[in-house]
Amino acid sequence: MPRIAIIGSGFAGMGLGIQLKQQGIDTFTIFEKADAIGGTWRANTYPGAECDIPSALYSYSFENFDWPNKWSHQPVIKDYLEHCAETYGLWAHIRLETPVTELRWVEEVGAWDVDATPEGGETTTERYDVVVSATGQLSRPRWPDIDGLDSFAGPVFHSAEWDHSVDLKGKRVASIGAGASAVQYVPQIAKDAAKVTVFQRTPNWIIPKNDRDYTEIEKSLIRRSRVARNLRRFMIFARAELLGYDLMHQKSFVRDFMQKFAVKNLQEKISDPDKVAKLTPDYPMGAKRVLFSDDFYEAIEEHDVDIVTDRIDKVTGDAIVTVSGMDQDHVEHQVDVIVVGTGFHTQDFLTPMTVTGPEGRNLNEQWQEGPQAHLGLTVSGFPNLFFMYGPNTNLGHNSIVLMIESQCRYILSALRQMAARSIQAIEVKAEVQQAYNDELSRRLADSAWVLIEDSWYLQGGKVTNNWVGRTTEYRRRTNHADLDEYHLRPKPALTKAG
Ligand code: NAP
Repeated sequence: MPRIAIIGSGFAGMGLGIQLKQQGIDTFTIFEKADAIGGTWRANTYPGAECDIPSALYSYSFENFDWPNKWSHQPVIKDYLEHCAETYGLWAHIRLETPVTELRWVEEVGAWDVDATPEGGETTTERYDVVVSATGQLSRPRWPDIDGLDSFAGPVFHSAEWDHSVDLKGKRVASIGAGASAVQYVPQIAKDAAKVTVFQRTPNWIIPKNDRDYTEIEKSLIRRSRVARNLRRFMIFARAELLGYDLMHQKSFVRDFMQKFAVKNLQEKISDPDKVAKLTPDYPMGAKRVLFSDDFYEAIEEHDVDIVTDRIDKVTGDAIVTVSGMDQDHVEHQVDVIVVGTGFHTQDFLTPMTVTGPEGRNLNEQWQEGPQAHLGLTVSGFPNLFFMYGPNTNLGHNSIVLMIESQCRYILSALRQMAARSIQAIEVKAEVQQAYNDELSRRLADSAWVLIEDSWYLQGGKVTNNWVGRTTEYRRRTNHADLDEYHLRPKPALTKAG
């Protein structure tokens, strides 16, 4: 059986571990840098952290859970992943506090040496036939480059590294950033803070979540009936594929209607015309991730929440200073605490790992111009290395767990064929990867994501993060690993001992 190293214990790494076990393969190790499993659902503990795809679909197709409400909160999702680890016997395979720091291809044996270096500890090296990187696109918090931020006298922390020891009651709190995370934590902190000032660069399109608790009758039906479970999943899936998928395109049938609906909702919820103007996007819906919230606008209306759209110039010991207008007027906003909600390094698919392939090839260097892979899964020049949630596999419209399950199928299909055909290593052909990426570029030119200059989906104007089609197309294309698209290295023939 092949020895497999999986890096990361979020939805992707755990999902693959479960599927390997189900196929009778238990020669795998899941390396996790943190002291607990769950990936993004371990790290993001900010108040109000919750899923923005309904949990019935943002979960494995093979494992239901007693979801208390439609859009689960972070602690529930983390519980779900721990429940899966327990149910499917994954704990024995998981190594916590073991960050992988380097992968080196060993040509003579056709395998990878995997270095893991715990903080302050010794590096250990183990050999694996196959490595799967499942480190996610949203795992490294990105700090803004703002003059003086490190000189601020009060607490400053990133939303993904929330400092729960800081009591925000009665404090003046600043949020730098107004994205998916801020929209969730601002309503929570506004309840207790004296004032919240949101420094917003770009407004977001926000539509109501319409969250609610499931009734006992619904929960009981879901527990008992597979048909009811599948129907619930299908309804959420179909709506996302219908509305969300349409919004991904420059030519959209629903955009006009959806934008009017979102603006009407904003105008109904917020009475101050100045705030309404600041919160109204001036770019087409779908160009950036559409956000869902039942309480962001409500919090702005009901509590002392200010929206500042002037550019941040610098931070002093006790204030954020903005500049505005032709005269470059400076305004000091006195605050006690700064929350940095500026997102993640979404293009660093590997950092801080070094990957050295055959002939000393360095993957980080190869990806300098923008990460690229075949189906987001394999990279030419790097044999027996798979990515989950790799380049161009993020979604703007549906559950990422669907993509992760497709990637699991592909990897299992490749492993099965390698075992059956006595293949030691597979490496995707450069021309196959190129043709695939040419196709992506052609199709992405019609996407809504290129209608704005900057977002976390883009690198140098190129969409590096998102998948271009429907989730069903990705499922079809990854259903079976076509080994004709790969260079194959046979296992050496066994020689009889003389
Ligand atoms: P984000 O969506 O990238 O938002 C970052 C915010 O910070 C934006 O408002 C951005 O403004 C602003 N910003 C960035 N750099 C700045 C700077 N130098 N000065 C001032 N403002 C700056 O990050 P996020 O809110 O952490 O969310 C990241 C992603 O995580 C989301 O898109 C989503 O996919 C995921 N997420 C998911 C959930 C979920 O429920 N599943 C929840 C939270 C997050 P611009 O818009 O102008 O760039």
